[in-house]
Amino acid sequence: MKEKTGACVCGNVTYSITGEYTGVVSCHCKSCQRYHGNYNPMIVANVEDVALKGDISWFASSESAERGFCAACGSALFKRQTAGPKLLVLIPWRQVV
Ligand SMILES: [Zn+2]
Ligand SMILES: [Zn+2]
Repeated sequence: MKEKTGACVCGNVTYSITGEYTGVVSCHCKSCQRYHGNYNPMIVANVEDVALKGDISWFASSESAERGFCAACGSALFKRQTAGPKLLVLIPWRQVV
């Protein structure tokens, strides 16, 4: 699969996925609705296949997951499980052109 790259709106945080990732899936859970104001489209990749750069703040949004956002501009970027399979969930369309 083609390498996928992206960034937050201010450019502080960038990511690059070099391994496999899913097609776009949409989570309609209450947590995502509250966080994003709507359902949450995302792609899923293995943590070890994703390189992160920049200053990312993480907070626990439930007992099993945490969400990452740019510490400078607040863009919501990532969600990952804190237990179980280590997957990183990414908002897919913040692509670096
Ligand atoms: Zn930013
Ligand atoms: Zn959700």
